Amino acid sequence: MSERVRLIVFGRQGAGKGTQCTRLAAHYGVPHISTGDMLRAAVRDGTAFGLKAKEYMDAGRLLPDDIMVGLVAERLAHHDAREGWLLDGFPRTTGQAEALVAVTGDESFSMAVNLDVPEEVVIERISSRRVCALDSSHIYSVSRPPKVPGVCDVCGGEVVQRADDTASAVRERLDLYQAETAPLIDWFESRGKLVTVDGNNDPDAVTAALVAAIDAHRAE
Ligand code: AMP
Repeated sequence: MSERVRLIVFGRQGAGKGTQCTRLAAHYGVPHISTGDMLRAAVRDGTAFGLKAKEYMDAGRLLPDDIMVGLVAERLAHHDAREGWLLDGFPRTTGQAEALVAVTGDESFSMAVNLDVPEEVVIERISSRRVCALDSSHIYSVSRPPKVPGVCDVCGGEVVQRADDTASAVRERLDLYQAETAPLIDWFESRGKLVTVDGNNDPDAVTAALVAAIDAHRAE
């Protein structure tokens, strides 16, 4: 089922994108390209770019579109993205979406999936979220901790609260989502590319609903 599926997955912070994108990428056999993870890796590496990115991320602000577009265009040019990809966390503005189409041309995205979870639910989820410091796709929560406290079950990394998961940064990020990213819903819809899936359910049920909705859209 891997034939050139090019998926965009978006939704509020805490909607479960990280978990679901990891599963979807495995299911469709495409690379999971998370701009948040790419930026966090740059921060960990301590590059000049990483230090700059950290300022924006800690403040819950978006990095400038031109920087993000350059980063993603470079990543999509890698060999492993030739047969398809899954973009998680990009585009986040209509400007980034326009640029993505300009960069990818005829090879543009297949569909954009809105993982829909109400704001009050994501606030609760984010404040209890914990992630592996080495790979933030290894996700835990206060009620679903790793087997050994503070140690990632998958890779042994330290399990921490993300710096941008504090209450004030979360509020800022949700406001920003409403202002900058929510307009993408109409943008995708008007191009016949929007697929909306209810993400307010247990993770396995959400994965099943995502695969069903994506396959139905592919069959259209
Ligand atoms: P995420 O893990 O997707 O929530 O991303 C964490 C942070 O990285 C965001 O709050 C932004 O500061 C930054 N970031 C990630 N993706 C983008 C993007 N497409 N455009 C601008 N900033 C981004």
